[in-house]
This record gives sequence, C-alpha cells and structure tokens, in this order.
Amino acid sequence: MVRTYGRVYVECQSDYDYEEVTEALQCVFGISGICPVKETGIVSPEELAATVTQFVLDEYPDGTHTFKMHTRRSNKNYPLDSQEMNAELGHALLEASDRFRVDVHTPEIMVTVEIREDRICMYSHVIPGPGGLPVGVGGKSMLLLSGGIDSPVAGYMIAKRGVKIDAVYFNAPPYTSERALQKVIDLASQIARYTGTIWLHNINFTDIQLYIYEKCPHEELTIIMRRYMMRIAEYLARQNECLGLITGESIGQVASQTLTALGVTGEVCTLPVFRPLIGFDKEEIVTVSKKIGTFETSILPYEDCCTIFVAKHPVTRPRLDVIKRHEENLADKIDELFEEAIRTDEILIVDKNGSRVVKHREDPMPGSMEQENG
Ligand code: ATP
Ligand code: MG
Repeated sequence: MVRTYGRVYVECQSDYDYEEVTEALQCVFGISGICPVKETGIVSPEELAATVTQFVLDEYPDGTHTFKMHTRRSNKNYPLDSQEMNAELGHALLEASDRFRVDVHTPEIMVTVEIREDRICMYSHVIPGPGGLPVGVGGKSMLLLSGGIDSPVAGYMIAKRGVKIDAVYFNAPPYTSERALQKVIDLASQIARYTGTIWLHNINFTDIQLYIYEKCPHEELTIIMRRYMMRIAEYLARQNECLGLITGESIGQVASQTLTALGVTGEVCTLPVFRPLIGFDKEEIVTVSKKIGTFETSILPYEDCCTIFVAKHPVTRPRLDVIKRHEENLADKIDELFEEAIRTDEILIVDKNGSRVVKHREDPMPGSMEQENG
C-alpha cells in the first residue's frame, strides 16, 4: 500500500479476485471511491497517448461512446500541461477508432489520467466507497450491543465517523441461551468487517435483573434495568479508554425510548451517549441493516434479556425522582452485584473471521482493571 496526497494505492502482490478486493475496499471507511487503475511509469506524451488509447479500447471493446479526457498533473516537470495533454489524448483516441466522439458536458466515459511524480495512472470507472473517516482517528466508544436490528447499525454509523468500537452485551443465563450470545458474537463479527477488531464484553446481568425484579415495581423494570446497563457500560468504557457510549435507541420506538425515558436512562451517565438512530424510522434502520449485512442475523428469534423480564405495561413517562427512590430499594446488595458483574466480565476479541475468548468469567481482570476494582 502506498499513500500520497488524496490517494491510497493498493497493490495486489499476486493473483487476486477483482470482486473480493472491491468488496473488501468497500468496507474501509475513509475511502470515497475505488478506481481500478492501469499504471505506467513516467513516459513521453506520445507514448502516454498510445497507452491511454489502448486502455480505452480494451475497456470498451464494443459500441459507440462519447468521452472526455480529464488529465490531472501534479508533476509540474511533465512537458505538457493538463489542457495540452487532454488535447493530445483525445486526438489519439479519435485517430485510432471512429467508435468514440468527444462530449465535454455529459460524456458516457470520463477517462482520468493522473500524472504524478513517480507514476501515471489511468481509469474510467469509479466504484463508490463507503465514505466516512478512517476508523480510529476519532478515538473509541463503547457500543451497547444487543441481538436486535438497531444496535449493530448504530455501531456501524459511529464507526463510519472514524470511531473505533468496543462492545458490551448484557446476558441473562440461564434465561437466555448460548445461541443468543452466539447471535451477538455473529453480529459483532459482521460489523467488524467495517470497524476492525472489536473487544466484546459479555456481562452476566442475571442477578442484577432478578434483584431489580424482586425489589422494584414491575412497570419500572425496563427503565431501571436500562439505567444499570448504562452504568456498567460507562464503567467499562472508562476502563477501556472509550470516550462515549453508543446505543441503538430511536425516539418512540418502544416504551423505554420516549423522550422522558431516554432522559431518565441517560441521567446515570457522565460520558456522552451517542444515539445515531435517534431520528430514524424502523424502515430506515432496516435498510441500513440489510446494506451492511446484519439484518438476517438480527431477526433470528433468540430471546434477549430485556424481553424476559418485560412488564405488561411499562412506564412511558418515568419520573426521575420516583425511579431514584425505588432504586434505593436496591441499596443492600446492588454494589456487590455490580462489582460481581464487572469481575466476571468475559472478554472476547471478535473480528470478521470469528471470535476468541481472552478473559474467562473467573480470570482476574487484566492489568489496570484489577487495580481499579481493588
Ligand atoms: P436493538 O434492536 O438494538 O436490540 P431495541 O429496539 O431492542 O434495540 P431496546 O431493547 O430498548 O431496543 O434497547 C435499546 C438499546 O439498548 C439497544 O439498541 C442497545 O444499544 C441497548 N441494549 C438493549 N438490550 C441490550 C443488551 N442485552 N445488551 C447490550 N445492549 C443492550
Ligand atoms: Mg431489540
């Protein structure tokens, strides 16, 4: 790979599959367009005209076409300037074949020739890239990744703005199955095609859920549970140098996502909470989900921890003071349960090819985490 101003040259070292390379590049944020180029060294204008002519004839062997030559010359030592080169190249093509006609306003074929310091590249196809910014330039954030449609899309969208992703999944064994966890790993693996490696924290949330269930009004279960998810996610975020949290919430989608509920949920965090889907309709989210390849996995029917403990009539307009008062019912044991959930965090490293566990439930926390807990 060679980088120059505004361009990254990707050179294939051996035989390669054109589709495969294109697909891989279409997952790299920061690429706005992919141009399969033919390349030559620095040659004379006459030689270049012959090469470009042959390139166009090979690319478009049949039919008649309108075209425009578009030379970009960053190599100011080259004997002809861009305008002169355009004339030279156009002339050569017209001489070589009567299947081509110039149209400078709406050409069917735009032949771009870039004359750089060390090489000359020509191309006529631009395949759209994913756009965005290279992952990592914007720091890192912690994605609350459930098995649903929304959160993988939310992670994708924030990663697209150059943010590296860690993820946390709240699991409720034995109420949720291994297959539900596998579904989340698969989703992480699918978005890792775009985001690169993801550290996935698999948090055992069962005891906290059961305790809330025992001590708090059932119509407030979801909201209180969500507040504890945010608290744990924020704790993990801080330990892992994440600068914010990401959720797949969207206004009005379910009872826990009314404006009031979002306010009460977010109140526990001091890190910023990014909700890239906040103004999206479900159909719009589904469209992105299909585009990035997570939809089919997301709709698999495995249970989620939220759906198991859900009340028939959850509050849609929770009052913060009331919720806080009911959370006081948890005072006896919640700190201990919180610490236990963090201590038994299972950490998986997920990439596009799969996952491997790097910390089992009973392993001590690696490095700095240990100290912070102690
Ligand atoms: P999704 O489709 O992403 O599952 P949802 O429509 O089911 O979202 P909720 O269940 O209210 O909505 O969850 C809202 C957000 O909270 C999710 O998008 C996700 O970011 C986070 N979340 C919910 N459940 C979990 C979980 N079990 N583990 C991690 N994050 C979760
Ligand atoms: Mg869901």
